[in-house]
Amino acid sequence: MSARVIIVVLGKQGAGKGTQCKRLAQHLGIPHVSTGDILRAAVRDATPTGLEVSSILHAGQLVSDDIVNRLVKDRFNDTDARGGALLDGFPRTASQAEALDEILGEDGVKICINLDVPNSLVAERLSSRRVCQECGAIYRDTDIEAISGTCSNCGGDVIQRDDDLPEAILKRLEAYERDTAPLLSFYDGRGLLVRVDGDQDPQEVTAEILDVLSERGIT
Ligand code: ADP
Repeated sequence: MSARVIIVVLGKQGAGKGTQCKRLAQHLGIPHVSTGDILRAAVRDATPTGLEVSSILHAGQLVSDDIVNRLVKDRFNDTDARGGALLDGFPRTASQAEALDEILGEDGVKICINLDVPNSLVAERLSSRRVCQECGAIYRDTDIEAISGTCSNCGGDVIQRDDDLPEAILKRLEAYERDTAPLLSFYDGRGLLVRVDGDQDPQEVTAEILDVLSERGIT
């Protein structure tokens, strides 16, 4: 793989960004960097940033650009991110996209995958989603891990995220339309945007993305 492969994965809440990034990280050997996971871990561990953002996350609103830009910049300094990263949940606003360009310097974003799903699927997926508080593994409410409350991957607690409750879901979808949807044209204008149908089996979605990456000579 050539130097620093930065892959931005965009898509509405529930489009499957987390699931796909975890799978792709294993295939590509670059880390899955999810600003949502980083922020939730900060809240769980009651770090100063966690205490600052806790009520914002709970309400399903966006954390300030300054905070997330700094978290991402710091994460890129970790050794495992030298070869690149799969960005999930960042950038989420035009100003974050500009900050990302600045952070990356010459090694710009290589590709932006838009995981496209119909709105009707989103609410259903989010309300049945359960996550492991420790490792971030994603389950459905009918999975044994969700029923037992224990992650089969790491033994952590499997819970429903606060912001996967109906009122917060609505707020997050509104914020997506307002703040994040415009990023599609930002990356499209640079010839970096590829649409992938997110309404297929997770394996099929991964295979399609891997095909795109290899067709474009990224992997
Ligand atoms: P989703 O995309 O499903 O809302 P995430 O796990 O990506 O979930 O994010 C959860 C929450 O973390 C968001 O609702 C928001 O409060 C905060 N967050 C994550 N990424 C960002 C970001 N790039 N900018 C601002 N807030 C963010």
